[in-house]
Order: sequence, then C-alpha cells, then structure tokens
Amino acid sequence: MNKLLEMIQRTVEATVEGPVTHRESVPVVETFRGQTIWEGIVEVFDVATPPPAVAYGWAVESDKGPQYVTVKGEPPAASPLAAVRVWLVSEARKDKKCPQGGHEFAFFDSFPGFEIFECSKCKLRKFVDLKTGKETFE
Ligand SMILES: [Zn+2]
Repeated sequence: MNKLLEMIQRTVEATVEGPVTHRESVPVVETFRGQTIWEGIVEVFDVATPPPAVAYGWAVESDKGPQYVTVKGEPPAASPLAAVRVWLVSEARKDKKCPQGGHEFAFFDSFPGFEIFECSKCKLRKFVDLKTGKETFE
C-alpha cells in the first residue's frame, strides 16, 4: 500500500472508529457550469463495524501540506461523487474567520433566504443573505 493511501486509510479509521478495508480508487471530477471545481481520486473503504458500511477518503493540497478528508458513506453521501459534493458544501459553509479575533465560524441555523453562522468562541452570529451574499453581524 502506498504512503498516501495509508494516511487516508488511517484518517478514515479514526473517523469511523474502527478498521476499514480498501475497496477501490475512483477518479472523480466535479463540475459546475462547465468549470471543474474539484478533481481527484476518492478512496472507497469497507467498514468492518457498520454503520456506516462504507466510508470515503481523499487528500487535498493546502498551504500546510496534504489534508485528509473523510466522509461517511451515509445519505446524502451515497457515492464517491456525492461524498465530494457533501464536503464541498461543508467547506463553502465554514468560510471566513470571526472579526473579533479570527475564531472559526460554525454553521448554526438556516431559514428561507438566510444562513446563520456562530463564532465558536465569542458566540458572535453572522447572518448571510443568500440572495445578495451580504453579511451582517449580531
Ligand atoms: Zn469570535
């Protein structure tokens, strides 16, 4: 087993809290309006102690070196491509730091037309207007 696959497998095992067996490597290309948003190899693992029965893992490059992503194979992540989509949505949601000290914002709630994020430290809330992208803090 190559080093990268081994690292991915370890991360997946930590996430599902048990041993997994590598099943296959699936090339995935996610496009939006004709543009490639993400392209890579998703590793598919069978989980020894379901649920979930399947888990997906892959590596992404970042400034801190490779990062390992794991997505459990449960709805809506029912395929390697769907798993990548679940991850892309969660990445888009955890954008931007809190203006009061650079803390991380976490998804808090949503209602029609708005999504609300809350700072993990100082509990500042960010309201995002999904139509305009305008952000207000409260
Ligand atoms: Zn904060």
